[in-house]
Amino acid sequence: MSDVKVWLVGAGPGDPELLTLKAVRVLGQADVVLVDDLVNPAVLAHCPQARLVPVGKRGGCRSTPQAFIQRLMLRHARQGLRVVRLKGGDPGVFGRSGEEVAWLQAHGVACEVVNGITAGLAAATACGLPLTMRGITQGVTLVTGHTEHGDAPNWAALVAGGTTLLIYMGVAKLADIQAALLGAGMAADMPVALVEQASLPQQRQCQTTLSQLRDAARRFALRSPAILVVGRVVSLAQAEVLPEAEVAGHRTRAA
Ligand code: SAH
Repeated sequence: MSDVKVWLVGAGPGDPELLTLKAVRVLGQADVVLVDDLVNPAVLAHCPQARLVPVGKRGGCRSTPQAFIQRLMLRHARQGLRVVRLKGGDPGVFGRSGEEVAWLQAHGVACEVVNGITAGLAAATACGLPLTMRGITQGVTLVTGHTEHGDAPNWAALVAGGTTLLIYMGVAKLADIQAALLGAGMAADMPVALVEQASLPQQRQCQTTLSQLRDAARRFALRSPAILVVGRVVSLAQAEVLPEAEVAGHRTRAA
């Protein structure tokens, strides 16, 4: 392996104070930073020396193909530049780090992944919730609600497992998720928290139940990026932190 190297760095869920010290150090040493969607621009205060290249689908670049981003990383790294690929949350959680690391290594480029706090954890904290709780649930599962090409999660297994579910990328698929969980035998009164923009000043959150999920999200005018927290631990949230969707609904005009 050559000494050419790329860093895949987690920018965390949004609040710049949730960055790791390692992320701050690596950003401070970068020559080029490829900035993904969902990275709070405030994080870029740690790399004023670096050239910034937006590669997010919603950001400056409408839809940068994955192959192009990978070639960009490679080209800059081979020029001897210190390349950071900055991703929202943690690079290893629905962040394509697996394919990028494999691709870079196949091209003789070393890769180091720097963890970030993943959005699901920040969503739970936003609600004042523990994700596990003795006597209530023994685990937590991170799962995507965005399913294409038939690679849907095994909802029946997830329901049977009884862990708290943190559902990413679920906003556009709420009806499908609700139907799948009910169809797999999850209780209709299972508490669900909807958390939008976790850890950012624009953060909003509300509580509902599985049977009310779709209606509640409509009243709440839920928009991406958001996490669904599904599980009995949701009922432990403080009422003022996590109002019922019916109460929260009046705050939104689009409902
Ligand atoms: N690597 C990221 C996840 C990328 S997938 C991480 O570890 O957090 C993108 C999804 O993450 C969004 O659709 C949304 O479900 C979730 N997400 C990212 N940032 C979020 C935030 N601040 N609040 C709520 N959800 C967020």
